[in-house]
Amino acid sequence: MPELNLNDLPLFRNEPYTDFSVPEHRKAMCEALVRVRSQLGKEYDLLIDGRWRKAPSRFSSINPSRYTEIVGVHQRATPEIASEAVEAAWRFFPVWRRVPATERAALLLRAAELLRQRKMEFNAWMIYEVGKTWPEAEADTSEAIDFCEYYAREMLRYQNPPPVLQFPGERDEMRYIPLGVGVIIPPWNFPLAILTGMTTAALVTGNTVVIKPSSDAPTVAAKFVELLLEAGFPPPAIQFVTGPGAEIGDALVLHPKTRFVSFTGSKEVGLRINELAARHQPGQIWIKRVVAEMGGKDAIIVDSEADLDRAVQGVLVSAYGYQGQKCSACSRAIVDQAVYDVFLEKLIAATQRITVGPAEDPENFMGPVINERAKQSILNYIEIGKREGRLVCGGNEIPGEGYFIEPTIFADVDRTARIFHEEIFGPVLAVTKARDFDHALELANDSEYGLTGSVYTRNREKIEKAKEEFHVGNLYINRKSTGAMVGVHPFGGFNMSGTDSKAGGPDYLLLFLQAKSIGEVVL
Ligand code: NAD
Repeated sequence: MPELNLNDLPLFRNEPYTDFSVPEHRKAMCEALVRVRSQLGKEYDLLIDGRWRKAPSRFSSINPSRYTEIVGVHQRATPEIASEAVEAAWRFFPVWRRVPATERAALLLRAAELLRQRKMEFNAWMIYEVGKTWPEAEADTSEAIDFCEYYAREMLRYQNPPPVLQFPGERDEMRYIPLGVGVIIPPWNFPLAILTGMTTAALVTGNTVVIKPSSDAPTVAAKFVELLLEAGFPPPAIQFVTGPGAEIGDALVLHPKTRFVSFTGSKEVGLRINELAARHQPGQIWIKRVVAEMGGKDAIIVDSEADLDRAVQGVLVSAYGYQGQKCSACSRAIVDQAVYDVFLEKLIAATQRITVGPAEDPENFMGPVINERAKQSILNYIEIGKREGRLVCGGNEIPGEGYFIEPTIFADVDRTARIFHEEIFGPVLAVTKARDFDHALELANDSEYGLTGSVYTRNREKIEKAKEEFHVGNLYINRKSTGAMVGVHPFGGFNMSGTDSKAGGPDYLLLFLQAKSIGEVVL
């Protein structure tokens, strides 16, 4: 393989989205849906120590748009198998960490190329397994490609760190080396992009991994692991272990050979992992590093000086895109009293036009929520909302073979309400009235979370104030609160939203590396 050099690569640019209004793109997507449908229901194995193998029992992932349809049958690993996976990753670490960074980066670029070639196919798997609509699936696959392209370049940058000061008579340097075995635990809601980002960052920096995907999205993960192997990653660098997190998570996190855990998911699970990882285990010779990106209760402020139509569009897309199942979803609209009634009226009218149904059908703006448990939990919050606010739109489940819920708006929600504070993770929006801009900022910051937030205003002073005072990891002005782009909006939240890892940013790979200082006396 010719030596890869950062300067020879084209500058990173975000993967363009496919325009599905173009007939040939639409046709390609329809054909991929047919092709992938013919593969639904197949069985997938665990990958440990370079070998595919089975577990004593299995579980199925299903299509949330049609819950009678099985998407994939997967192995239900036991805690013993999970431990074996960590040990296998540990055995291969000395080999993988010596593979030159340029070679690891080249493999990542090859993976990006394969993903690009199979974009429609990966979109189709997400449409079936997690109920993403066409554009949402397309954004997910594009982001996965971006992570591969971006982290490949980042690794090439980190392998030549800036020089340290030279002490007279010495040759001094600092170099970055990998950590060891990383346990990768992604959520189901960005089953390809987040999985790809966390996995490739760990691998390209020279760590070996144990991937434990969400049980709601194991097939997308299995397809990605197959793709990494096809790209040329050596199988023993990647262990693939499926099964309920509650059953095998502890074994992975507590294992003394686990060096770091890269987690994205709920606050409850993230805090548990953080606590367990901190406990010293017999034979463990390091402090485990935990990167935990967790939930959100994201607010959009609509100021008296906002372009209201723009604000309505931004709130609508942020609240109901992918059924509100994004950590960055807008679940609180905080609106200045001067424009409150007009904004609400426009928002209700726009929300009533939203189409809900199977994700496969491109006419639907919203698909299903992920599973029965999520549906029940969201409906429960809707009942709570009926006591805490004024239901002005939606509020019902839609009967059928999928987990469909109407886009729902509660108006006049007070800051003490549960639906103002708790992450619902569904298509439910709380609208709250603010006295003025300062009050709106105070309300927006009244949260244990601090992930994303947006402000709609034309007033420069207010924009500058929001930049100072709105305490979120990702702040947007006059645009939606979702859709962070790799390289452009490094992503990660404050407070209970997590460790602020800033995925897709220039500091991210440092989380998977440790720095070694070397001072050599010149003889
Ligand atoms: P979850 O916490 O239920 O599960 C996340 C992952 O953890 C899954 O793979 C799951 O199997 C695993 N898991 C569950 N119990 C475990 C345990 N005891 N030990 C180890 N692993 C365990 O979250 P989810 O429902 O998959 O995802 C939704 C949540 O993720 C929301 O709270 C959302 O806000 C958050 N999220 C955050 C970000 C971010 O970047 N901050 C991005 C996407 C999603």
